Amino acid sequence: MVASAKRDYYELLGVEKHAATDDIKRAYRRLAVKYHPDHNPENPDAEETFKAVSEAYAVLSDPDKRRRYDTVGHAAYADSAGGGFNPSDFSSIGDILEGFLDDVFGRRGGAGEAPKDLRYDLSLRFEEAALGIEKDIEYDRLERCATCAGRGAARTATNAECPACAGRGAIRFQRGFFASSRPCSACEGTGVRPGARCEDCHGQGLQSQRQHLRVKIPAGVEDGAVRTLRGAGSEYSGGTTDLHVYVKVAEHPLFSRNGADLVCEVPVSFPQAALGSHIEVPTLEGKVTMKLPAGTQSGKVFRLRGKGLPVFGGYGKGDQLVTILVEVPEKLSSRQRELLGALAAEMGADTHPKQSSFLDKLKSLFD
Ligand SMILES: [Zn+2]
Ligand SMILES: [Zn+2]
Repeated sequence: MVASAKRDYYELLGVEKHAATDDIKRAYRRLAVKYHPDHNPENPDAEETFKAVSEAYAVLSDPDKRRRYDTVGHAAYADSAGGGFNPSDFSSIGDILEGFLDDVFGRRGGAGEAPKDLRYDLSLRFEEAALGIEKDIEYDRLERCATCAGRGAARTATNAECPACAGRGAIRFQRGFFASSRPCSACEGTGVRPGARCEDCHGQGLQSQRQHLRVKIPAGVEDGAVRTLRGAGSEYSGGTTDLHVYVKVAEHPLFSRNGADLVCEVPVSFPQAALGSHIEVPTLEGKVTMKLPAGTQSGKVFRLRGKGLPVFGGYGKGDQLVTILVEVPEKLSSRQRELLGALAAEMGADTHPKQSSFLDKLKSLFD
């Protein structure tokens, strides 16, 4: 083992030199979960990182070892004769891991194991997302069993600890460099002797409970946004996990969004565009009547100021952009065809200035 190439323990854990033990534990827990080989079967580098951060934690979490490390650095542990632990001595690392993984990951398989954060998929109508809304949601989460206060043992039970695993809920075994564990089969991972279990939670210490919660969705939230509710997830001995609310916004039959601007297309007929007319336009607050000026071109965009969405995380409102599409008839009766033909004969360069300018350019280029 080359001691000189080792990285600084504080740097490895990403903590300050004067970090409190709790901060060190939190930092390690995050890294250990991330790099644990069980979570990274396809990444051999993860195991190396896991070993390195575990070693750093083993030293920095122990006040005596930390003091020695702060004084002499890695040299303190480069030599097993020095009384510290030797990082090249696999079994001693295993012993250390054995002790503190319990501490870091929680003691028992049931109430102790850090459960995952919860996810809730919240579907919103377009208008709900645009204007903001409060939604009542229901979901199941694990809560400490009220009957046994999370201990998993019946109140009347004596010697409730599972003798096979000494109440850990898991059996440790050495796998190469570090200790690993599997749930204890004698107590099904609860740590409680089968005869002594709390009947309500079957020794788990936790019970699934339906949770009701009101979630405030701010106006202007976009599809795919995630709102995290700290501590609204499952309970375990180390605290409570978070609930992540994933927002799914349904499409609207008439509107789409461009940031805070609301976008819609309004088809009009050729006579409406040519003669001008009053057209009905949808807005988030209902229908409004808009004056279409005579001679409106297809593709013309009208801006309705302040009729868009609230600026998410900011101030004010966006606009509504109304794009006019002049619809060309695809099917005509013979009478309509006749009338249109007569109209066409009546129209010339002065009615279609763009077209006649185009034709002039075409002529000068190629004739
Ligand atoms: Zn219980
Ligand atoms: Zn057991």
